[in-house]
Amino acid sequence: MQTHEIRRRFLDHFVKAGHTEVASASLILDDPNLLFVNAGMVQFKPYFLGQQTPPYATATSVQKCVRTGDIENVGVTTRHNTFFQMAGNFSFGDYFKQGAIKHAWALLTSSQEDGGYGFDPERLWVTVYLDDDEAHGIWRDEIGIPEERIQRRGMADNYWSMGIPGPCGPCSEIYYDRGPEFGIDGGPEADEDRYLEIWNLVFMQNERGEGRGKDNFEIIGPLPKQNIDTGMGVERVAFLLQDVDNVYETDLVRPVITKAEELSGCAYGSDDTSDVRFRVIADHARTAVMLIADGVNPGNEGRGYVLRRLLRRIVRSARLLGAEKPSMAEFVTVVRDTMSESYPELTTDFDRILGVAVGEETAFRRTLDAGEKRFEVEAGEIAAAGKKVFGGNEAFVLHDTYGFPIDLTLEMAAEAGLSVDEDGFRALMTEQRQRAKEDAQSRKHAHADLSIYKEFVDRGETEFTGFNELNTEATV
Ligand code: ATP
Ligand code: MG
Ligand code: MG
Ligand code: MG
Repeated sequence: MQTHEIRRRFLDHFVKAGHTEVASASLILDDPNLLFVNAGMVQFKPYFLGQQTPPYATATSVQKCVRTGDIENVGVTTRHNTFFQMAGNFSFGDYFKQGAIKHAWALLTSSQEDGGYGFDPERLWVTVYLDDDEAHGIWRDEIGIPEERIQRRGMADNYWSMGIPGPCGPCSEIYYDRGPEFGIDGGPEADEDRYLEIWNLVFMQNERGEGRGKDNFEIIGPLPKQNIDTGMGVERVAFLLQDVDNVYETDLVRPVITKAEELSGCAYGSDDTSDVRFRVIADHARTAVMLIADGVNPGNEGRGYVLRRLLRRIVRSARLLGAEKPSMAEFVTVVRDTMSESYPELTTDFDRILGVAVGEETAFRRTLDAGEKRFEVEAGEIAAAGKKVFGGNEAFVLHDTYGFPIDLTLEMAAEAGLSVDEDGFRALMTEQRQRAKEDAQSRKHAHADLSIYKEFVDRGETEFTGFNELNTEATV
């Protein structure tokens, strides 16, 4: 079943059950706690927090999500995209645990002829929070899942909150057993690669007080109104229903791998290191396109830095696979072709999106070669001297002169079996920022004091902007 169809069936299922279909919010919402929207519930936060009254009692959406925390997992695990689509159903004081569980089960297990996904119920496992006997009882007695396939998990896995005082509550998650060839027995508690998490049901029933993180806070008491927030990974369902090996080989992601094979002359599936690079390109190209479409531009901090890092990882990965020529335009085009059915703005805004992505590629390619050579010489010397640490000063030069985000240096160092003196690097960054500030100060004075102004002009420095676009990543 194609990804577009998986989306459509989800929305249809919940609309049929009376939910209002709500469009995805932009990846960028004005939320001080979030760089990017990372879950379906984000656009509904004011309703869950009781700040606004929802215009509907139940809703459903397929939300664009970006999780930068998963960047290191991309291509390495089978299941983490940096961009993915989270399908969700939401109840604002309407149905609660029983309704959420029954809806999810019906959609997952009803046959494809009947509009469902047709999963074999025997292969589904569920988890509930430690003391959530209510959810446990519904799964066992009303749905009929044998007790052996219901696991109880603690705060870190099965208790949800926003990380701040506000609503919180236990979760229940649904996993699919891919089979013994993919890992060990024992359910999701034992192996989250064999048992693939597909759907998280959050039961907002309590109020969270002060505290820290995911598992160290006070629970004040029950909420006056109970809410439901769920999230199903569309790409994960596609991974299973399309019978492929991971989320990068699904219908909307794999075509970029095919393009990268064509441009590099290297075949996907020939060795593990290259395969990770193929998957990184496919995943990141999609994320970069979706971010640019929502208005992000490459930059030196915050969101812009994330985008820059994604684009530069694509450029480097393609080069390492053997693609000599620029390839960004081709990747971006494939993403448009696969994704525009659900996101038509990728077609209408294509020229701008393409321009931003290719601009970054051009800038980075200008110095990538030289920077890599410089890295290799330095890494070679360190190895020859029997040392294991890549110097902060060298990392700074790579950053300052060659436009290498620190994460890229960290990655390359790790590949070469080295660590990086990050403290040293950061100290130099701070110094540079300080100098830039002082410079700006003296430039201000220069306007008042013509003799200094003239000196600047004579040295020609104020006009030199050649490296600016490559110069700094403030977020380090
Ligand atoms: P995991 O444990 O696999 O990292 P999660 O517990 O972090 O997933 P949730 O926060 O519960 O995920 O999000 C709800 C659903 O969104 C998940 O059950 C999964 O189907 C999907 N999902 C989460 N992260 C990703 C991702 N990086 N790529 C693709 N789908 C994802
Ligand atoms: Mg996760
Ligand atoms: Mg999980
Ligand atoms: Mg989860």
